[in-house]
Amino acid sequence: MSDPLDFTRAELDRLDAASLLREVRALDSAQGPEVDLNGRRVLLLASNNYLGLANDPRVVGAAADAARRWGAGSGSARLISGGVRLHDELEARIAAFKGTESALLFSSGYLANLGTISALVGRGDAIFSDELNHASIIDGARLSGAHVHVYRHADAGHLDELLASPVAGRRLVVSDAVFSMDGDLAPLRDIADVCDRHGAILMVDEAHATGVVGPGGRGAVAEAGLDGRVPVVMGTLSKALGAAGGFIAGSADLIAYLRNGARAFIFDTAMPAPVAAAALAALEVIEAEPWRGERARALSLRLWSGLSSAGFTVGSAPAAAIVPLVVGEATDALAMSAALLAQDVLVPAIRPPSVAPGTARLRATVMATHTDEQIDAAVRAFTACRVDA
Ligand code: PMP
Repeated sequence: MSDPLDFTRAELDRLDAASLLREVRALDSAQGPEVDLNGRRVLLLASNNYLGLANDPRVVGAAADAARRWGAGSGSARLISGGVRLHDELEARIAAFKGTESALLFSSGYLANLGTISALVGRGDAIFSDELNHASIIDGARLSGAHVHVYRHADAGHLDELLASPVAGRRLVVSDAVFSMDGDLAPLRDIADVCDRHGAILMVDEAHATGVVGPGGRGAVAEAGLDGRVPVVMGTLSKALGAAGGFIAGSADLIAYLRNGARAFIFDTAMPAPVAAAALAALEVIEAEPWRGERARALSLRLWSGLSSAGFTVGSAPAAAIVPLVVGEATDALAMSAALLAQDVLVPAIRPPSVAPGTARLRATVMATHTDEQIDAAVRAFTACRVDA
């Protein structure tokens, strides 16, 4: 009898033949500017640890202390056994950081998007989503059962046109603030104006903006002067904050509504205390050391202009810490990533379905803790292994 799981081997062979097979690397060190990989020290341009806080002694120390005091795991969903005080403190701190009344933690940013979108809209409602939004937004939209309208990337005019057709139910507009694979910024002011005109709810995903963009790293909503005009602000603790988990910041009513209606909150075991403690410590560092966000932005600009001077086509200047280099075919992106690794520089090849077919790319990310010399060395490595060289 044939194995009913035979299709998995067939699918893996198909992915391999198309240069789309994914494999997981294992590092032997924390996510610093350089990491240990298979016995070698390599320059890491692949981490979203944008401010270098994931292995900052203050953040790590807070997590270790919390583990000793509260334990490693949290035991249940917060609505079952109760969370720990740290959850409440972290939520209050996030709300203050984002300038909102309240905030709610989720175990991941992915779950924050899934849970929030599916709680805010359902069948008979409509979602308006940028074509380059993150997978967690796309999946949240699918899960909700609402009708999904996709607008052209960063095109508030197209969004305006789509919102003009009448919908009986609620309307939710969702956009990344900084796009995860392109590194550019959404036109948030225009989008907010369009939402106001049509009475649509606006949700902005600040995953790659929090800590890096805006005054004191408060994000792209604050940077655009939109405090109080974006009712649903989502973010992650897993990137610039060097911890893990996601959050929604908004009005007290929105947060109480999500506590009661977001299944990804209700039915998910609470964020472990050491993770919450790490995020709290990271927020303190961000507030005390605003140079970190500025430094990450300056380094991404340095990388971008270095690549551009070296003759690469790199698109518009990066808004945060992400510098993509689109090469087109998955095979070429893989070859270039392998060539970079041979020179001790780790830059991942991003291929479909993470990006559209024909737009495979190298996605380089910088950390505030990289040195200028490391960025310049990366530019030299890129130049030495151009696919058309
Ligand atoms: N939104 C965006 C824009 C992201 O890039 C990511 C993570 N890649 C997420 C949400 C999910 O966040 P997390 O990794 O914390 O689950």
